[in-house]
Amino acid sequence: MKLDTRAMRHLTAEDWKVLAAVEQGTKNHELVPLPLIERFSRLKGGSSLVSKCISTLAKSSLIAKMKEAKYDGYRLTYGGLDYLALHSHAQKNHIYSVGSRVGVGKESDIMIVADHTGAQQILKIHRLGRISFRTVKTNRDYLRKNPSNSSWMYLSTLAARKEFLFLSALHSAGIPVPTPIAHSRHTIIMSLVDAPPLRQISSVPDPASLYASLIELYLRLAKHGLIHGDYNEFNILIREDVSTNPDDDDGTETITLTPVVIDFPQMVSMEHVNAEMYFDRDVNCIKTFFERRFHFKATTPGPFYKDVRKTVGRDGFQRLDAALEASGITKKMAKDLEAAIRQHEEEKKQNPSAYESGDGDEEDDDEDDDEDEDEEDEEEQQQQEGAGDKEGEPQIIIGSKAPLGSEEGLEKLSINDKT
Ligand code: ADP
Ligand code: MG
Repeated sequence: MKLDTRAMRHLTAEDWKVLAAVEQGTKNHELVPLPLIERFSRLKGGSSLVSKCISTLAKSSLIAKMKEAKYDGYRLTYGGLDYLALHSHAQKNHIYSVGSRVGVGKESDIMIVADHTGAQQILKIHRLGRISFRTVKTNRDYLRKNPSNSSWMYLSTLAARKEFLFLSALHSAGIPVPTPIAHSRHTIIMSLVDAPPLRQISSVPDPASLYASLIELYLRLAKHGLIHGDYNEFNILIREDVSTNPDDDDGTETITLTPVVIDFPQMVSMEHVNAEMYFDRDVNCIKTFFERRFHFKATTPGPFYKDVRKTVGRDGFQRLDAALEASGITKKMAKDLEAAIRQHEEEKKQNPSAYESGDGDEEDDDEDDDEDEDEEDEEEQQQQEGAGDKEGEPQIIIGSKAPLGSEEGLEKLSINDKT
């Protein structure tokens, strides 16, 4: 599903209140009954005004009417949740306008947004369940077995909370990550890193030193007690820092490559039961990529989990793996989120083409992708082409910088209400 902000400008202050009331009711009701919406929205105009608002919201697909045997009620849609999050960001002056999508993961939409000063940032909208809900049976089973957590929106909100929390903790610890700016519901805002993902880089002057810096960064995370869990070429952005040596008369420029790591909802503790498996998987991902892309093979084996484990919390590194529980995300919530993310991983393995096309990923060295003929994928594909975005292709040679965001195409968010 895509983010369409057009209906936003037509919503009145009352519409927003009713939308917020449906959201509030959703916390305890699968279907929110009308009397509850009336109570929560606290509108002076009474039930006829509430009905009018409900009809406006339903027309824009922000809420949906559900008919059940016991009672009729309403539920919030992903579109409604998007609007509530955008509304909250706009009210806090974090978002003034929304631009194009820069990345389309199957679990998230990545949009360029700007605040009222024109500063461009990244809005990440978590969309767990987007693909699986329609196509994969196992997830429906999961939902059926977990009726209390039957909402993918709830899981997406948890994913965003967890991601913002770790982004903030890592940023404070001086790890190169985007700067966290704000969080609302299933969305986070962070700084835009003007750097391509490693995936897009076709050659580097010194693969050995880039490899070493990626492993070093990974070991720093481990000292903080954390395993990234998806440490791969899509989730590492490579920033080019150009510097000139003042002692050097001919002004020769030196390019330093700094990895910036992103994407944290699946992060686990070094003490997780499957820590070693995740650790090895991450390390192997980087090794395999360097072999395939840069024909580089590390001369020393490892790093190995059993050695690295001994370094957790050493050298003055603050442990960050307990941050989650301290934040109010309970063990049960973390487990639910983990289960949902693992299911996505399974689906990715079973049906890689559906995910690859969504990532704008059109080539791979040795994989035969079937194009997913799905309507939504086509739409996403067109959107990407429209944005002139050829993400995923290894087209960048370090030394030739390609800017990420442009000022064009940012659409101002119009919201009538400033309550
Ligand atoms: P997903 O969970 O769907 O994989 P990611 O957080 O990995 O989402 O983001 C998907 C893509 O969007 C990344 O591979 C990257 O190209 C781009 N992206 C995400 N965050 C940023 C950022 N802060 N700055 C620049 N690009 C970003
Ligand atoms: Mg990612």
